[in-house]
Amino acid sequence: RQQEKIRNFSIIAHIDHGKSTLADRILEHTGALSDREMQDQFLDSMDLERERGITIKLQSVRLPYKAKDGQDYILNLIDTPGHVDFTYEVSRSLAACEGALLVVDAAQGVEAQTMANVYLALDNDLEILPVINKIDLPSADPERVRQEIEDLIGLDASEAVLASAKSGIGIEEILEQVVTQVPAPAGDSTAPLKAMIYDSLYDAYKGVITYIRVVDGSIKKGQKVRMMATGKEFEVTEVGVFAPRPMAREELAVGEVGFMVASIKNVKDTRVGDTITDANRPAEEPLAGYRRINPMVFCGMYPVDSSDYDDLREALEKLELNDSSLRYEPETSGALGFGFRCGFLGLLHMEIIQERIEREYNIPLITTAPSVVYNVYKTDGEVISIENPTHMPPSQQVEYVEEPYVKASIMVPNDFVGTVMELCQSKRGEYVDMRYLDANRVNIVYQLPLAEIVYDFFDQLKSGTKGYASFDYEMIGYKTSKLVKMDILLNGEPVDALSFIVHHDKAYYRGRLFVEKLKELIPRQMFEVPIQATIGNKVVARETIRAQRKNVLAKCYGGDISRKRKLLEKQKEGKKRMKAVGNVEVPQEAFMAVLQMD
Ligand code: GDP
Ligand code: MG
Repeated sequence: RQQEKIRNFSIIAHIDHGKSTLADRILEHTGALSDREMQDQFLDSMDLERERGITIKLQSVRLPYKAKDGQDYILNLIDTPGHVDFTYEVSRSLAACEGALLVVDAAQGVEAQTMANVYLALDNDLEILPVINKIDLPSADPERVRQEIEDLIGLDASEAVLASAKSGIGIEEILEQVVTQVPAPAGDSTAPLKAMIYDSLYDAYKGVITYIRVVDGSIKKGQKVRMMATGKEFEVTEVGVFAPRPMAREELAVGEVGFMVASIKNVKDTRVGDTITDANRPAEEPLAGYRRINPMVFCGMYPVDSSDYDDLREALEKLELNDSSLRYEPETSGALGFGFRCGFLGLLHMEIIQERIEREYNIPLITTAPSVVYNVYKTDGEVISIENPTHMPPSQQVEYVEEPYVKASIMVPNDFVGTVMELCQSKRGEYVDMRYLDANRVNIVYQLPLAEIVYDFFDQLKSGTKGYASFDYEMIGYKTSKLVKMDILLNGEPVDALSFIVHHDKAYYRGRLFVEKLKELIPRQMFEVPIQATIGNKVVARETIRAQRKNVLAKCYGGDISRKRKLLEKQKEGKKRMKAVGNVEVPQEAFMAVLQMD
């Protein structure tokens, strides 16, 4: 039976350990791509991913493989993102698999996200096959890493493949292990259809394209299907596989991975994590859905040009379709007009969404500084959560405020223990634990306010440890903190989008720095602009932007008209990312400046 010849697997790894490179070698080896089509990091297809060298959206590809036992197998490789911000997508793709290749760098060894990914794979009951990659490196120490995998993760690594994705060593061996050790999918081919939607995207011609894994039964063209969460029914117009280009097929049988198209126009009708069943012979229970993860970081997104508002909503709607961790709702700002409050898993997630909106949808944006969600206990007994600092009630109405905390695990070489502890301490961290992993590596555990991580913690950690630290964190809940709201006034007018919440002990310092930074960033106007930072009614810092003296155009007055036009155009260009706040032109950077103040 065909089902027995299917192997669904993913590759998991700490970032940069070689997951994408290994995926490329596997594609090459199975001949899924002709040389002409072969380009590095095929699975990282979004431009953004290529540029940043990270994998954001999971992708799948079907690979034919003739194994040493002489049988033909179908391997479905499902790619997963490596960054901590995308844990949600990792768990989605893992749910579509029976096995995972665990790639560990032979020089770096086990890192924080290696562990985090292993836990996700174990949660999904996957067969984990360790692969020690980059054995070509002079600094590679495969035997030490093998021991680490056994000691730190508790996996049997005696059969771990020693590989070099770069030089193509060990690829065959890896594929043989996939065939012999990853179980075939277990579904029942005669049961009513159950297919899991693990991703989807919107296509202007075909409507919503859902990426599915058939768990029971089969799905074919013409079949009437029902989405179990929304109850919506559709007729299947196309099913197919990624080989790796999309290829239409008559049917997707039990255990198979592929896509389904059904003229679904409304993106809200399909939900990632939902189960598709047969409308005429429905399954009784849907598959266990995905754990929905709540966004932890929020920011305002406003179109630079207010006429882009509807396009922005549409863009967010489409992005949300295959990124169910993205949240958004309309928001109005006195300073920025109509926009959206958006929620993200972390800062990288936020940046990626922002860039995608600008590139793929061509909507220039002003984004406000990210904020976490605070719980405010008011004196009148009401408890509110605040995603936007502007909404913080006046201090006399506030009994106390709680902020989210994370438990952070930081793995570093010995030499950097002092640096890391100092950094955590300066970020209001509370020491929890420190453990030696081996003779020269330490795992340090701290509880830290999430808000401090949102402010460039990761960058500081990386630079302070010369890139050697690896970092992972999980939410542990809320704790009371002495927090105050800082307001910023430009020309005497409060600018809601510049307000931020800060710890009482750091308020004066941050207020001072922020005001100085704003003075640098906001260009001179035709008039003097005072900048003030206030807490309640108290001014804690003040600067003045002096008036502009010369008119730029004066220089070429009466001169060459084309030069003048160029100047005007250049000015306009510069203004693209400016927003008129009252009568002051404020550049995009000013709204993010609060992030760069340490
Ligand atoms: P990912 O973040 O896990 O997807 O890692 P990538 O596949 O993007 O690889 C990260 C870096 O390591 C890239 O510069 C690769 O060229 C390099 N790399 C990957 N595999 C090997 C290997 O086997 N040997 C060496 N020397 N470098 C490798
Ligand atoms: Mg990659």
